[in-house]
Amino acid sequence: MKYLSAYSEQTLSQVRQVLDQGRLGDVLKQRYPKAHDIRNDRALYDYVQDLRNEFLRNAAPIDKVAFDSKIHVINHALGLHTSVSRVQGGKLKAKHEIRVATMFREVPLEFLRMIAVHELAHVKEKQHDKAFYKLCTYMEPNYHQYEFDTRLYLTHLDASGQRLW
Ligand SMILES: [Zn+2]
Repeated sequence: MKYLSAYSEQTLSQVRQVLDQGRLGDVLKQRYPKAHDIRNDRALYDYVQDLRNEFLRNAAPIDKVAFDSKIHVINHALGLHTSVSRVQGGKLKAKHEIRVATMFREVPLEFLRMIAVHELAHVKEKQHDKAFYKLCTYMEPNYHQYEFDTRLYLTHLDASGQRLW
């Protein structure tokens, strides 16, 4: 249950029950019947850019977006946002890059949306504080539900090794 360590004991025991009954995969599959079709970096870039244009028009532009097989999904690290400062034309400019763990290539759109929203929010808010989560839920009202379900899927993968999508 390492992916769910931030949740309450009550929630954990409910998940454990479903997991023990071998029903976690079915529950997820029923809630999310199909995977998205954003399979390469180009498509991912367009998807994230569209989200940015919709919600964060005034924030810094995103320079690069890519799936990254080197991101190991442990605890809270499902994606990565980096800003590298470089001197450009005598001014310090930050280059924003978003990386998303490869496992998000074959998941429902809701899970990908959650991680895209999370990493985009970091362009404005560095810490995981109140302002950060306010921005996440502004971009996606079901943000917390999708994060929980993503973590349920990781828990399912851990227990069964069977991909659902
Ligand atoms: Zn974060």
